[in-house]
Amino acid sequence: MRPFSYQRATDPDMAVQALSADAAVDNPLTRATVQPLAGGTTLIDLMKLDVMRPAAIVDINPLAEGWSAIDPGRENLRLGALAKMSDVAAQGEVQRNYPVIANSLKLAASAQLRNMATLGGNVMQRTRCPYFRDVSYENCNKRNPGSGCAAMDGVNRMHAVLGVSDQCIATYPGDFAQALIALDATVEITGRSGTRSMPFAQLHKAPGSTPETETALRSGELISAFVVPGRWPRSVYLKARDRQSYEFALSSAAVALDVQHGAIKDARVALGGVATVPWRSREAEALLKGQTFDDGLAERAAEAAFADAKGRQYNNFKIALGKRVVARALHRAVTMEI
Ligand SMILES: Cc1cc2nc3c(=O)[nH]c(=O)nc-3n(C[C@H](O)[C@H](O)[C@H](O)COP(=O)(O)OP(=O)(O)OC[C@H]3O[C@@H](n4cnc5c(N)ncnc54)[C@H](O)[C@@H]3O)c2cc1C
Ligand code: SF4
Repeated sequence: MRPFSYQRATDPDMAVQALSADAAVDNPLTRATVQPLAGGTTLIDLMKLDVMRPAAIVDINPLAEGWSAIDPGRENLRLGALAKMSDVAAQGEVQRNYPVIANSLKLAASAQLRNMATLGGNVMQRTRCPYFRDVSYENCNKRNPGSGCAAMDGVNRMHAVLGVSDQCIATYPGDFAQALIALDATVEITGRSGTRSMPFAQLHKAPGSTPETETALRSGELISAFVVPGRWPRSVYLKARDRQSYEFALSSAAVALDVQHGAIKDARVALGGVATVPWRSREAEALLKGQTFDDGLAERAAEAAFADAKGRQYNNFKIALGKRVVARALHRAVTMEI
């Protein structure tokens, strides 16, 4: 690991100021020479691998007192960015009214990691593309802009089939983000000019021609909270992976339904493990709304969700798998007892 300086930020202003120090520096390896440190379960790994090379890290854990509340209000659910994954997954109101959130967290990583890792760090985690994580490969447009993409014709079994570009096909790896995007969450961001909010759906950037730009966060900005409107007791997170625990998704679905008198009044469908960014399927949702559920409807919705998917040599299987995951998640959501 390379030398770096360490600073503990004791309040948000201090954190923002310390993080803004790199505003003028353009370092394609990290996109920022100063990085916030939360649980450290991604950042420290990537520093050890020499993929991220910050000159300084700013420990934001002292902000947890103000930024880790789990607050299920009457109108919405507010989650502090420094809340631990395990605490949110175990919270009673979250389990009752937002099972898709509780399960997206519970099915992620391992118990030890979930005890360390924060919600903010979780949504900011970086791709597990093996070529990105191994600096002996020169050609990775995300790590080394303009160098090419080793995954295109390489071992691309874990890679994306939706939202890909000719520059990058890396999968967004997290689980929690799919629940947030399905439920129309907003993200609260603290920076030099105070706090701003944006739809969570605008936080992550599809690779396009600039895969090195992964989020809409500006220099010096931190995620301080997530806000989820409404309540979604009829919601499910289903994850298919190579083993039943401690593994990233090959394909996952976050589904939330509002079913009244047998008809689907509202439907939310998001996909994980198959796309370059947290992926909402408006096409599947449009097919479901106003309909009475049956297996045929679930299959048509799943087809619609993957209509634009592009498979490659080793990841083509994700299209068939993903459709099954969506159909099964819909079935579970309709039949669950609430
Ligand atoms: C073996 C292994 C298996 C895993 N499996 C899964 C899985 O199945 N599903 C899943 O979803 N995840 C999985 N993960 C990822 C894990 O969930 C993340 O490492 C964790 O959530 C990151 O949170 P953290 O607080 O430790 O972040 P850190 O490592 O501290 O930070 C991660 C990144 O986010 C930035 N950051 C942190 N907090 C903020 C903030 N508030 N605002 C802005 N930027 C911030 C940091 O600068 C850094 O770049 C796995 C990780 C490992 C090591
Ligand atoms: S898929 Fe993206 S992250 Fe992976 S090698 Fe290609 S450019 Fe790099």
